[in-house]
Amino acid sequence: MSQSFKAFLMVLPLLAFSSCFKSKVDKKLNNENSRVLSQALEQENVVPVAIIGSGPAGLTSALYIARAGMKAFVFAGALPRGQLTETTTVENWPGRENVQGPQLMADIEAQALSFGADIIHDKIIDIDFISWPFKLKTEDGRSFKAMAIILATGATPKKLNVPGEHEFWGGGVTTCAVCDAPGFRGKEVVVSGGGDSAIEMVYELAPYVKKVTILVRKDSMRAAIAGQKRVAAISNAVIEYNKEITQIYGENDRVIAIDVLDNKTNIIERRSIDGVFVAVGHMPNNAILKNGIDLDEHGYLVMQGRSQCCSIPGVFAAGEIQDPSYRQAIVAAGEGAKAALDAASFLYELGFNVEIGEKLDKKFFETFSDEKLDLREITENSELDELIINSKGLVILDFYAHHCPGCIRMIPVLEAVASKLEGKVTILKADHDKVKKTIYKTLWFDHDVKIRKVPSLVVFKDGKHIETNTKIMSKPELFEYISRFL
Ligand code: NDP
Repeated sequence: MSQSFKAFLMVLPLLAFSSCFKSKVDKKLNNENSRVLSQALEQENVVPVAIIGSGPAGLTSALYIARAGMKAFVFAGALPRGQLTETTTVENWPGRENVQGPQLMADIEAQALSFGADIIHDKIIDIDFISWPFKLKTEDGRSFKAMAIILATGATPKKLNVPGEHEFWGGGVTTCAVCDAPGFRGKEVVVSGGGDSAIEMVYELAPYVKKVTILVRKDSMRAAIAGQKRVAAISNAVIEYNKEITQIYGENDRVIAIDVLDNKTNIIERRSIDGVFVAVGHMPNNAILKNGIDLDEHGYLVMQGRSQCCSIPGVFAAGEIQDPSYRQAIVAAGEGAKAALDAASFLYELGFNVEIGEKLDKKFFETFSDEKLDLREITENSELDELIINSKGLVILDFYAHHCPGCIRMIPVLEAVASKLEGKVTILKADHDKVKKTIYKTLWFDHDVKIRKVPSLVVFKDGKHIETNTKIMSKPELFEYISRFL
């Protein structure tokens, strides 16, 4: 028995009083949806805990579950490592002064992995909450069952919902300053929103742009005062209050102007602008949460008392999927720990132990090892010539950057598809920051291939540039996209 598992058993009695599910489990034992351990043992492909989401909440849950000696599958989902990968400096994580968001998340993930958590680059697309063990399906077509589920799917940035926003999305309208700021060098942009995200965007944009204006719809900002003060000291940043974007205009797929309403005077003014950065809050990611689980009127999961238990016994949640108020990474991580303790306590109340974990493991046949092909990284012009310009067949060059969440999201997708289509397509990668003076420049000047943002997938056939795609794609989408060129 591992030391961590022994330590976990010692804290179990302390958890019993906080358990939210006992009465519900007992009640459920009398009906057809009962949670009886033998039911799980009779079946194949059952994991003790499935964690959905890999932000601070999901990865902290994974750390706790793995440390308790239980098998934990973490589904990385659409935004691996969560929203902190889209921020710059995090100043409010205890014990870490000025840590970069992506670095912090990489560290938490590494810690969870070191205790044996399995992180799977796939997305859960369906959960059957009615049967138990719960049945789950992934985007890649895999199915398995889980005795307990921790939902940590987070929230997604909201949109403005004004005319032109959808049309010019990715053509100057965006929610990711970290990804897109370099493409706005010397340009004028606006940020819409008055929260901390808007402030973050200004930090990211100011070093690149000529001018950034924050348009705040009220007469004050919701963001932390410290952040507002820092923005006031940035020479090319301006804050305007009582201003709302009512329409976005563009030409040749690029934003050129916006209409701005002054909601005090009711005057609408048209302004020439190159980019619109949207920072107007978030929506809970609840698309897979149906089948009777309790959500509040805004779509957030409802917790039972002070626990992280959802309305269905065996289902737990942490982070922004159940938190419309605090929305802090450290809070999400704390809730992740609570959810893991609640989930483990639930399993132990059913009679789960190490031997049962081993029995389940022996009957787990679904394969979750990601089949992937490591992408060759190119840095020199000689490699560009040899492997792309003078080569035959289909070659895709992925321009990525370490600070870009979309890029981090795309790499496992590209690796998986490269493995599936081995021999039919060659996928290479180039670190945008490292090849600025070599490949990036040569493509621009000698081949008229302009890289305006990362990630960019540059498609070549028999050495000729076919197109450049900047969309973030899932595995099925990328597979279909590449198949078009074969
Ligand atoms: P918030 O919900 O805090 O703020 C959203 C802002 O957008 C508000 O000012 C809101 O205005 C405004 N808004 C909403 N809809 C519209 C619209 N249609 N048009 C114009 N403006 C609109 O969201 P954030 O994403 O900024 O932050 C979410 C959470 O994450 C917060 O708790 C924040 O503290 C946290 N965070 C922390 C960071 C850090 O610690 N480094 C970084 C980023 C975020 P109104 O006030 O009028 O409602």
